[in-house]
Amino acid sequence: MDKGWSEKNKEMQQFIGKEATFREGIEKLIAFRDDMFLQITQIVWNYPAEAFSLQPYAGADGYHSKTLAYSIWHIFRIEDIVAHEMIAGDTQVLFKEGFDKSIHSPIITTGNELSGDAIAEFSKQLDVKELYRYAQEVKKSSDQLLEQLEYADLKRKFGEGMKEKLAKTGCVSEDEEAAWLIDYWCGKDVRGLIKMPFSRHWVMHIEAMRRIKNRLCEIARKGVDPLAYCGLSCNHCFLGAWCGSCRSAYNACSNATISPDHRCPNEVCCTEKGFDGCYECELLESCEKGFYVPENDGANAAKAQSLYVRKYGKKAFFKVQDRLHKKFQFEKTQELLGQDIKEALRILEEN
Ligand code: SF4
Ligand code: SF4
Repeated sequence: MDKGWSEKNKEMQQFIGKEATFREGIEKLIAFRDDMFLQITQIVWNYPAEAFSLQPYAGADGYHSKTLAYSIWHIFRIEDIVAHEMIAGDTQVLFKEGFDKSIHSPIITTGNELSGDAIAEFSKQLDVKELYRYAQEVKKSSDQLLEQLEYADLKRKFGEGMKEKLAKTGCVSEDEEAAWLIDYWCGKDVRGLIKMPFSRHWVMHIEAMRRIKNRLCEIARKGVDPLAYCGLSCNHCFLGAWCGSCRSAYNACSNATISPDHRCPNEVCCTEKGFDGCYECELLESCEKGFYVPENDGANAAKAQSLYVRKYGKKAFFKVQDRLHKKFQFEKTQELLGQDIKEALRILEEN
């Protein structure tokens, strides 16, 4: 488990377990969920539709063998069922808000019964934006439910009646890969449910989603020119696990993500002008577009790198990058090259 998440999870569980710190524990749990949900948001907003039904680890033993879409569906179907059928005793978000139709899912179950190609086929049918909206609504309603809980509620148990009720909803498949869920949930009290569907279950599946998206970015970068339009090297970028390059459909560069059409302005401008990159443009030094906006403290370092490519070519540029990253500790190039174009170019030329 991610070290930071593991610590947060442990601390939150300890706080929830004691009456004196219960309320603070719930606040920590909600903050932890916000943190994890952000990863889902970034994946949904930055990757192309095809990414959600791909299985780069098909056949592997673990949750990373699933798809991104399946993972989101599965996390929030389980939470929706547990929160509303079991704890609150009201209507699931899926039905209350019409997501059973708008997501276009062929199933209403948790998806545990699906395997192999069936997961990819299922994923292809989902409207990912609606699925994301569903995830947001389930999270919102569960957070409210958690806020309303009292310490005494933690010991509440569920009997045979709940098992029958859950079976009747048809939300858990009778397949042996899924049917065990009902006994599993009903064997826990409210505290046990908080420990799994509302927290640890998220961690496991969101970590798997991170592995899937890292691999998809790696695949997207294969055979693609690693020089970003603005002059940075995608092969040396600290965002490499999130971004498949501005020359791919997996562009998660901050410039692209804040643009309304999710396209980096430098990429749009270069494409319109028929340039391979800003290094070919005579306006480079005075340009204020995209990555070169004056408020960006990395603008001049990127410009210096473009100038270096213009003078010495891409091959020499990537060799310099290799040497710099071997020699110095830095994430963003401006940490080493500073904010003065001439000085940054000098550093590049002297290394
Ligand atoms: S953020 Fe920019 S430099 Fe980094 S991988 Fe993406 S396109 Fe390449
Ligand atoms: S005008 Fe700016 S963004 Fe456009 S190609 Fe030239 S340097 Fe790049």
